[in-house]
Amino acid sequence: MSDPAVRIAENLARIHQQIAQAAAASGRSAAEVRLVAVTKYADAALARRLVAAGCRELGESRPQELWHKAAELADLPLAWHLVGHLQRNKVRPTLPLVSLIHSVDSDRLLAEIDRAAAHLGRRVRVLLEVNVSGEPAKHGFSPVEVADVVTRMADYPQVELRGLMTMAGLAGGRTTARRDFARLRTLRDWLQRRSPPGVSLAELSMGMSGDFDLAIAEGATLVRIGSALFEGVAD
Ligand SMILES: *Cc1c(COP(=O)(O)O)cnc(C)c1O
Repeated sequence: MSDPAVRIAENLARIHQQIAQAAAASGRSAAEVRLVAVTKYADAALARRLVAAGCRELGESRPQELWHKAAELADLPLAWHLVGHLQRNKVRPTLPLVSLIHSVDSDRLLAEIDRAAAHLGRRVRVLLEVNVSGEPAKHGFSPVEVADVVTRMADYPQVELRGLMTMAGLAGGRTTARRDFARLRTLRDWLQRRSPPGVSLAELSMGMSGDFDLAIAEGATLVRIGSALFEGVAD
């Protein structure tokens, strides 16, 4: 097996190239697409190698794992993203560590983030997670619910809404994934048009290792990539 540091740097270079190709193929600039490196398959030492190779935005799907890695990597200049479900009782310790929460999926969670952010004395950036595939096992607001939540964001003054996030449906492979990404973009465009000035839904977090090229074609601004970064190292 090759040196993990070399392998991770190669994986990262390949993914950046694939992001650039996907962006160019749909007339977009690669600079419009940010990579969130999901480190849930790696320990802190491997995550550190990814940072040495040039990643600055790291993501975790479990709050406790994010706390743990953020502490282990506290000497590094990182922006942490929480991409998975956040339980309300984990909001307070999580907020000081994260630059963006991708996975806000209920009114009660919004209210708790608003309270905890007020306590911290700062606003917190979030995306609303939308279950566009309608799969019952998935977290997220339905498209109808999210339209309602967006009109009520003024109820949560400490929460700064930045856009929407989705996980593609598991059934149906890439064809279904592309349809789900297109639905999220269409929903965002529609919500943006009917939102009051000052509400920005600029960010679209969609696409993972197996389908980020499709997500970029459909307008992703944040791609959440885990396993492809650690191929040959942590699998
Ligand atoms: C694990 C995870 C990812 C990354 O998935 P890969 O297929 O390994 O790239 C992205 N988003 C969320 C919410 C995840 O839990």
